[in-house]
Amino acid sequence: MSLFSLLPGDSAAPETPICSRKGCHGAAQWRLLWNNPKIHTPERRKVWLACGEHREWLEDYLRTRLLWRETLPLQRDRSRRGGDRLMYRFLVSRRWLTYFVLAIIFAIACVLLSRWQMSRLDEAKANIDLVTRNYDATPVPFAQTAGDFASLPAGDEWKQVELHGSYNVADTRVVRNRPNNGQPGYEVVVPFRTDAGQTVIVDRGWLPIGNKEQGRPDAVPNPPAGEATVVVRLRPSEPTLDRGAPEGQLASIDLPTYAQQLGYPILTGAYGMMASENPAPAQTAPAALPKPQPDEGMHLSYALQWLAFAVLMFVGFGYAARQQARNAAIDAAAEAAEAAVEAEAGTAHDDAARLAREDAHRAAREAAERAARFAPRKKRRPTAEEEEDAILDAQGFH
Ligand SMILES: [Zn+2]
Repeated sequence: MSLFSLLPGDSAAPETPICSRKGCHGAAQWRLLWNNPKIHTPERRKVWLACGEHREWLEDYLRTRLLWRETLPLQRDRSRRGGDRLMYRFLVSRRWLTYFVLAIIFAIACVLLSRWQMSRLDEAKANIDLVTRNYDATPVPFAQTAGDFASLPAGDEWKQVELHGSYNVADTRVVRNRPNNGQPGYEVVVPFRTDAGQTVIVDRGWLPIGNKEQGRPDAVPNPPAGEATVVVRLRPSEPTLDRGAPEGQLASIDLPTYAQQLGYPILTGAYGMMASENPAPAQTAPAALPKPQPDEGMHLSYALQWLAFAVLMFVGFGYAARQQARNAAIDAAAEAAEAAVEAEAGTAHDDAARLAREDAHRAAREAAERAARFAPRKKRRPTAEEEEDAILDAQGFH
């Protein structure tokens, strides 16, 4: 009676566990749990499978060698992944749960940042809609929109308004730091007194930086003299800037600050960006300011990047866990190999000792394979012995 007489035939289909008795192809119904006290810890259980007919024979074999522990009905759903599952048991440790919670917190933060970028995108889209809706709409007479100049609702930005009256050239200001198309320059603002008697500010357009004198344009062209009809687009007053400005200049189109410099009231909620003026000015007007481009910005791309970071948190966690399992598997393989060497050192020739030796070898091979699964590229072609072993594995010999 040798160990190999107990091995099953080679035609076994891995899906159907079959009897471990040599030559028997019967479906296994029983699991025979055994333990070899010479090499196994007392809790360890090795498993053979038996059909109804050979259960007794296999049990006897183990019993006479004092290896048999118990016989249980076969549970069909046992899977070889069980060994792998055990390797990942560290995941329920306090340390790894902490890592997991941290990964979740970071992922939540990433998702929130992603949503914030999406809301920025919505704002950008709303702005584009606003420009599309208002920029070329039919101009509305000033009489109907005077309230917008006092306080501008967001939905009225870029609306066209027709003004009638005259410019107050003496109170012209040059607004500093107004790049246009990547060119440094200024914008020119002029008070415009309407027929109704209220004064609003008109931004006549852009001037490049001067060559003659630093800090001012070479010349500020005059607007049409006398009565004029001017079409402007509504823009909100700008925030106050701390940097101040020299005489005749403004740091921003901050209407209340501008108003303080004038000897008369102006409407300070909004100003008008020049669209057209009639009659045409005698001097070439400042350059028209460009229509805002329908630019949604990078928000969508940033939002997707944050989502990718959220996913990467878990990829990173999985990678770290795999590394941990890999190290544990390598340790286990080394341990099992040591046990195999120890078993080999026992020179007894009886079947039990042989069984024990074989068992230790198999345990070492299994552990080594499990470790090798983490480095599949280094895997060589399996030997015939390993293939046989794999068949055993498939039948639940763990
Ligand atoms: Zn059988």
